[in-house]
Order: sequence, then structure tokens, then C-alpha cells
Amino acid sequence: MVNQVLKQLDTPIPKYSSSRQGNPIILLGEYRFKKRSRHTNQKQEVHWVCNKIDKGCKAKLTTWNDAIIRIYNVHKHDGVYYTTTKKGNRSLVVNGYSYALKQETSVATHWRCSRYYNRCRAIAHTLDGRILKCMGFHNHPPPERSPPPILV
Ligand SMILES: [Zn+2]
Ligand SMILES: [Zn+2]
Repeated sequence: MVNQVLKQLDTPIPKYSSSRQGNPIILLGEYRFKKRSRHTNQKQEVHWVCNKIDKGCKAKLTTWNDAIIRIYNVHKHDGVYYTTTKKGNRSLVVNGYSYALKQETSVATHWRCSRYYNRCRAIAHTLDGRILKCMGFHNHPPPERSPPPILV
């Protein structure tokens, strides 16, 4: 079924590896997550944090049976900026992915991946220019690097 194929595309497969010090890490796209101490709860969930946590990055994920079950994939070290498309529409760029404005509400601005027509279901919410959350996974690699930021 088509739906099942899409579902698979939706979920990135975490690549397990180990750091130079021999600690377990997860590679997810261009991000690296390290295992957070030995904290596992009864449900056998394993918590991971971005390896740039020392720089204030709060991205994290939880795995269960080696599958990602929860993820907060907003990285402080991401390149986030706003630009304008050729058609004059506002666009949000997060880490090379561009998002098109979908809706503005009183609590957040809603963006969806500019490739939503390709069934990419990644979305983002911003408030006052700051990323509140990025949800969903892109079913495609980031487009070619965009032009330099106009506005940070
Ligand atoms: Zn990070
Ligand atoms: Zn996308």
C-alpha cells in the first residue's frame, strides 16, 4: 500500500555508532545524539541528547527497541533564517530546508515544508521569529544550500 511506503519514508532510521571515546551515539542526518547517562526507565526507553548540549542545544530523542519514539529535533546551532521566495512569499529556512507559510494564528505561525506537494509532512511553528517546534520528518534530503541569510 502506498500509505505504508510513506510511513516508512516518514521515519528516519537512526544510525547507531560510537564516538571516538567509545560511547554509543546516534547519527540522524547531520546531527549526533549521545546517550544521556544511564537513565532508562521501566519501559526500556533510552534517552539521547544532542552532542552539542554543552553549547545549549536542547534537542533530544527517545528510543525504544532501537526505534525513535519521541524526538525534539530543534537545534540551537541550526541555521534558522527568513527569506523571500521568487514569488515574493515569506519563507522560513531551517538547516537548509525551506518552509512555506501556511497559517498565522495568535499563538504561532505555522509553516510547512516547501515540498509538501511531494508529500513531505514536516512542519514548523514559530513565534516572534523563534522556532517553537519542528515536527515530522522530511522525506527528502535538504535542497541545495540556500542563499545567505537576509534576516536572522
Ligand atoms: Zn543540536
Ligand atoms: Zn521536507
